[in-house]
Amino acid sequence: LTVLGLESSCDDTAAAVVHLPASGRATVLSSVVDGQVDLHAAFGGVVPEIAARAHAEKLDFCVEQALTQAKTTLAEIDLIAVTAGPGLIGGVVSGVMCAKGLSLATGKPLFGVNHLAGHALTPRLTDDVPYPYLMLLVSGGHCQFLMVHGPVDFKRLGGTIDDAPGEAFDKVARLISLPQPGGPSIETAAKSGDPKRFALPRPLLDRPGCDMSFSGLKTAVLRARDAVVADKGGLTPQDQADLAAGFQAAVVDVLAEKTRRALATYPDGASRTLCVAGGVAANQAIRAELETVSAEFETSFIAPPLALCTDNAAMIAYAGAEQSRHRPYDDLTLSARPRWPLDTSQPGMLGSGK
Ligand code: ATP
Ligand code: FE
Repeated sequence: LTVLGLESSCDDTAAAVVHLPASGRATVLSSVVDGQVDLHAAFGGVVPEIAARAHAEKLDFCVEQALTQAKTTLAEIDLIAVTAGPGLIGGVVSGVMCAKGLSLATGKPLFGVNHLAGHALTPRLTDDVPYPYLMLLVSGGHCQFLMVHGPVDFKRLGGTIDDAPGEAFDKVARLISLPQPGGPSIETAAKSGDPKRFALPRPLLDRPGCDMSFSGLKTAVLRARDAVVADKGGLTPQDQADLAAGFQAAVVDVLAEKTRRALATYPDGASRTLCVAGGVAANQAIRAELETVSAEFETSFIAPPLALCTDNAAMIAYAGAEQSRHRPYDDLTLSARPRWPLDTSQPGMLGSGK
């Protein structure tokens, strides 16, 4: 099965070709990602209208490049998989329209993929990970624990009730005058900081379950910053480093403790695997702590390469390939969904939700 995948749910336009043999691991034949960071830089965040227009303009070119790099043509593609949600609706619509056009023109079947399913299935694209495995998805827009029982069988154990960690890293960086994207600049600054200088909260640790919150933590950083500024008139590089280190340590603690709780839901004696995906998984402090927690629970730890952890179309093509073995193709009535929770233990969450 050779699948063309399209992804346009946030600020990356992407196309990829993935081959999935009848048995064994898939191969990524090409993966083209065209980011839009420069288009949105002046606005301090992704502007949905600008993103949607850019996707509409770039998709054709990305598809062409993906086919060329895979040394294939549309005629040799068996399935067209496209992110049908969740995400910024204008972008998702651009992708779905493009996929429908390709499907109509070539007669190739169309398959709508949940973006979160794409992230959640990525570890199986690069490693032999047995089901069920625990996935911690931590990105700019998402934060959740999923127990992945199969390609179309997901159980959401919990997630953030407000900000995603990536979003919090970005906002905190802005608060303490570090450059965007906030994740890498906070990680760098934190290396020379004292994580204990400011007492920052570990939200929701006192509550049972896997839900998380990062918005109060961000407000606590704001207060700590204001106190320093009121006292000294500004932030020194050491203040920035200490705030960055304190914030990062709080995120690490929350993710680690909630991961322990999620791992505890595995039945006794089952083989356990913890996988991470999403841009925040690039953070070495977070990664190291998750590895430690995995070891505590005699759990294997898998983090796919970063290019496959952040938004890309190879994961969409791969998810489409796997899922199409378990549910029917979509047709031209496929619709774009701004919201599409990934929990197939809830009714109505399995298909593309027509
Ligand atoms: P989504 O995939 O949920 O739609 P997104 O596309 O914004 O959202 P990603 O591309 O997966 O998310 O990740 C980007 C986020 O990852 C940004 O918020 C960025 O600050 C964060 N990030 C990147 N590197 C690091 C790091 N080293 N430490 C912490 N966060 C990081
Ligand atoms: Fe994503």
